Formats: sequence, structure tokens, C-alpha cells
Amino acid sequence: MGYDDLYRRSIEDPAGYWAEQAEQLHWFKKWDKVLDDSNAPFYRWFTGGQTNLCYNAVDRHALGARRGQAALIWESAETGQSRTLTFFELYREVNQLAGVMKNLGVRKGDRVLIYMPMVPEAIIGMLACARLGAIHSVVFGGFSVTSLASRIDDATPVLVLTADASMRKGNPVNLKDILDESLNAATVDSVRDVLVLDRGLVKCEMKSGRDLDWAEQLQKRGETFVEATPVASTDPSYILYTSGTTGKPKGVVRDTGGYMTALHSSMSQIYNVGDDDVYWSTSDIGWVVGHSYIVYGPLLKGTPTVVFEGRPDYPDPGIWWRIIEKYGITTVFSAPTALRALRKFPEHWMKDRDLSSLRMFYCAGEPLDAPTYEWAFEVLGVPVIDHYWQTESGWSMLTNPAGVELLPIKPGSPTKPAFGHRLEVVDADGNAVPKGEKGFLVDHGPLPPGMLMTLWNDDHRYIQSYWSHFKDNLLYMTGDYAIEDADGYFWMLGRADEVLNVSGHRLGTREIEEVISSHVAVAEVSVIGVKDDLKGEAVLVVSVLKQHIAPADEDRVAEEIRTLVRERIGPIAAPNAVHFVKMLPKTRSGKIMRRVIRSVYQGDMIGDLSTIEDDATVDMVREAIDMLRDDL
Ligand code: AMP
Repeated sequence: MGYDDLYRRSIEDPAGYWAEQAEQLHWFKKWDKVLDDSNAPFYRWFTGGQTNLCYNAVDRHALGARRGQAALIWESAETGQSRTLTFFELYREVNQLAGVMKNLGVRKGDRVLIYMPMVPEAIIGMLACARLGAIHSVVFGGFSVTSLASRIDDATPVLVLTADASMRKGNPVNLKDILDESLNAATVDSVRDVLVLDRGLVKCEMKSGRDLDWAEQLQKRGETFVEATPVASTDPSYILYTSGTTGKPKGVVRDTGGYMTALHSSMSQIYNVGDDDVYWSTSDIGWVVGHSYIVYGPLLKGTPTVVFEGRPDYPDPGIWWRIIEKYGITTVFSAPTALRALRKFPEHWMKDRDLSSLRMFYCAGEPLDAPTYEWAFEVLGVPVIDHYWQTESGWSMLTNPAGVELLPIKPGSPTKPAFGHRLEVVDADGNAVPKGEKGFLVDHGPLPPGMLMTLWNDDHRYIQSYWSHFKDNLLYMTGDYAIEDADGYFWMLGRADEVLNVSGHRLGTREIEEVISSHVAVAEVSVIGVKDDLKGEAVLVVSVLKQHIAPADEDRVAEEIRTLVRERIGPIAAPNAVHFVKMLPKTRSGKIMRRVIRSVYQGDMIGDLSTIEDDATVDMVREAIDMLRDDL
């Protein structure tokens, strides 16, 4: 069956279609109902069913034919270490850690926060949580105090898994210190224990009564076998925070049965992975791509997954290509920003290596622009596939399902809707716009398995954020602008809300603004995403300083703002440019007109101002823009 027929089937008979996919996995108890849509938009998959994500990802293979096959291949360009664990070795280590966690009192439904570098123990930690039915919340190791503290407050974990340090271009970043500060800054006091992996990179303070040494605990509390806890298909497997339009991050909640079904199915249908493949997602476990395609997707399928600690250009721009050569990697999942970074270097870094094992190269996170695509396709000589997704979706929403049928590639388009997704481009009222016209990308329910269930402890915000944009139409709002062309291909045109996409990662403008506002010299601030050749979008800060601040102090304040953002949110949010202006363009109701600032900054046409913001008087805005233009 080709794409069109299979897609149609997934839409016309979702229950039949997904039941077939789910049957390929292990269920302790089979579901009563495939899809419960009685409380839309809270769609529930495989209700009544009982399963375990860790059992399916690890035990199924470790106790079967894949026992001695590589499961996890770790390579650190930072420390020069590498390690391969077979499925059985992974099984043993997951059991041991699950034993520690169980003996520390972690129970089904408890939250465990994971703040770790890209080391095998981080993944073993995620799987151990899944084994116990505990809900993990992995926080990207590049986030700093404010971001981490707000996630601790929201998830109220009982246990935190961390390490002494992560490494950045050869320098240790003291994760444990950042965690200590965050636990002090957090308002909740839910954390009973902190398990610290000592990599021997930095010395860290251990707080008695709370901090425990990882290796010591494995000796003391570890067990060789811990029963995988059967959980309901609809029990949450994890919370993963993503930026929204307010300062508070959104805790995306993933179920268990639907997620595992969607991922397992995607490994064959989308990534075309078979028995001889080795899969490498260059992402980080702190992002959704890492959850789905470093950890769960490949392991559910029984495919070796490469876990990489490092960057594309360290210690030199040949590192990725050497890893592909070394392990005979067949399938890579990466991001356009990395390709753009690598493209700057001479091609010999790549051409000197034997990359003949490579079959497919996937990208997501931001648009894969046509020039980058053309370059990658030429130098790699394999299909380079762009696909579109979000933290909320857990797997791709727009895709080129190479395992079913490789659709003709149109450079710059992430192709067509993934199975089960009824995507459409609509106007502000939620009505379909003609093909070729720009609008909002929406998904009609029922959302397929793997999509978010809700936001953690906040059903109201789930409805507000995703389902309330179009008065009478119950539609899932992606927050992105798109066009569907005459062939049914979609073209993504960027975010429609106040969220930035820097190097393929979403950052909330509000989150960054709140941090900058805390600087004593700052009166007003607006954070805006502007086009950036390398990162897709870059962070521009435009701020009005308090009156008493002398122009001579501006450089110092700008530097302090940069440091503040790095320290509180993390290096990825660090502003590219900080500008001070006398006045920000606002609507009469006081809303800062970001689009206007962006246009002024980028030198774009500003267009008809009366349509940009309804209740702004054009003159007022023009005046502000002129001042802004002078200042910039
Ligand atoms: P995140 O939840 O951080 O993964 O960010 C999701 C957002 O990244 C989407 O809503 C899009 O704005 C953008 N995005 C992801 N993949 C693509 C893609 N292939 N093409 C264009 N934009 C993308």
C-alpha cells in the first residue's frame, strides 16, 4: 500500500489502523477501547490496556533474539570515551538503577527530574523511571538556574538524577552547582534525594541527608531484577517542558501506550529502519527529539542507538563523519542549524571519510532551507528528508514516510501529513484557506497516538493554548504559519506566536524578557526573533533603560544583560544583539509591536501599520519607529 492509501486508512479508520500498530508490541493486558474521544480534545488511546515502556524497549529484546546485539552506543567527543551496551547489558543496568530508585521510595506516578549530560546513565535513568511507572522530566543540561527552578516547582519531583558536570568544548560545566542553586531558588520542597553521578570532572559539594553517590548506591541499593510495573496505557510516561507565550514553561504530558505505538510504527514507516540499521539522532535527551529518537523509538524497534556527547565542530568539523564511519551508521536525524554550521568548513572533512553505510539523513526543528538541502544532498548522496514536528507531537506531523513510499522531495517542504494527522491551513476563524494561501496550520481531532495528553496539572491551559483559537471550531493550533500547495505539500513559514526558534529549539520571548526585566537598569524590554543565517532565528533585545542611566553605561549594561540571560536561562538563549532605545512602539492598549521592531531591524517593508495592530494610531507608531530606527 502506498502513502495515499495508507494515509486515507489512518484517517477513515483510526481505531483499526492504530490497533494493528499496537498489536506489534507487548501488552500485559489488552485494551478495551482503541480510541476514547468522548471527552475531546482529551483524546485517550488504548484505554483499559496495561503495558510498560521499559519492558517494550528493553526486556522484549534483552530476553529475546537481540540479547547480545548493541543497544546503546555512546561516544563522547568531549572526554574521548566510548562504550557499547548490548540489550542485555542495558537491561541489567536499568534493573540495577530501578532497584536503587525503588529502594529510595520512588513509586508509580512519582516524578523524577533528570538533569544530566549525554551519558548512558541519563538514558538508563529514563528507562528505570519507565520501569517503575515513575514519570520522568528531563531538563536540558544547557538550561540554567531560573529555567531549572521553574521546572522543579511545576513537576515537584521526589528524586533528581544529576552528574558532577557536563562538558562544553573541553570545559566542564558544573551541573551539580546549578542544581543546588535551583533547588534553593525553587519554592517547593519536594525533592528527598539527589543521585549524583561522579564523572570525575569537577569536585562537588554533597549535601548530607540529600545527596547520594550514584556508584555507591548501585552497590548498596541496586537489584539485579526489578519487575516492570504494569501501567495503564493512559498513564503519563513523562513531562517535557517547552516554551509558550507566557514566562511559565508548558509541561507537555505524554501517555504510555499511544506514545510507544506511534514511535514503534514510525521507525518502520517513516525512518525505514530494518534489522541491519544503526540509528543516530544528534539531538540531546533534553529535547523531544532526544526522548523519541535517541531513546524510545530505536530501542522499541530493537535498533542500536548512538548517544553522542559533543558538538558538530569539536574537536574539529570531522567529528560527525568519523562517528558515522566508525559505527557504520545508516540513519541520521539532525537539525538544519548543524548542517549550516558544517557547511562552512572544507568538504574534505566529510569526503575523507567512508560514509557508504549512510542511507538516510533526516532533519527537523526548523525549516530546511533549499540551499542547505541542495548542499547536503550533493555531499551525502542520500535522501535528505525534512520533517516537521513539535514537543507536543512527540513524532512528526508532516513527513516523508520513506518506509512506506519515499515521496518526491520538494526542497524546503517537510512534505505531507503523517499518518493519523488531519492537517489543514486555516484563516483566523478556522476556515480552510484555498491552496497556495498562507494561514495557520491546525490539526483536526482526534489527535493520533503520541500527541500530548494535556499540560501537567493544567487542563485549562491545554485548552487555552491549543484549542481556543478559533471560536466555533475545535482545532489544534500548532502556532505555525503554513501554506499547502496544489500537490498537498506543506510549506512552513515560521511561528505565528511569540515564540522564537533558535537553532531548532523553542524559546519563549516572555521567559527571556522576565529575566532581563530583573536588571536594575532596565525599564522596559522586548525580546524579538530576527532572521539569522546560521541559527534560523537569533535573539534580539530592544530595551528602554531607566532615566538615570547614562549613555556611557550602556555597554556595561548590555554585557550584564547577556550574562544574566546565559546564567538564568542558558547559553542558547544568549542575545545576539542588545539595543537601547528611547521608546518602544506600542499599541494604544500597551502591547509592544514586535513585528514592527523586527521589520525595522531587518530593514523589511513595514507595510500598512493600521493592519499590523488594530488599535494603534499610525502616527504614534511611526514616531516610535523613527526613533527606533535612529537608535538602531
Ligand atoms: P519544539 O517544540 O521546540 O521542537 O519546536 C517546534 C517548532 O519548531 C514548530 O512549531 C515549528 O515552528 C518548528 N519546526 C519544527 N520542525 C520544523 C520543520 N521541519 N520545518 C519548519 N519548522 C519546524
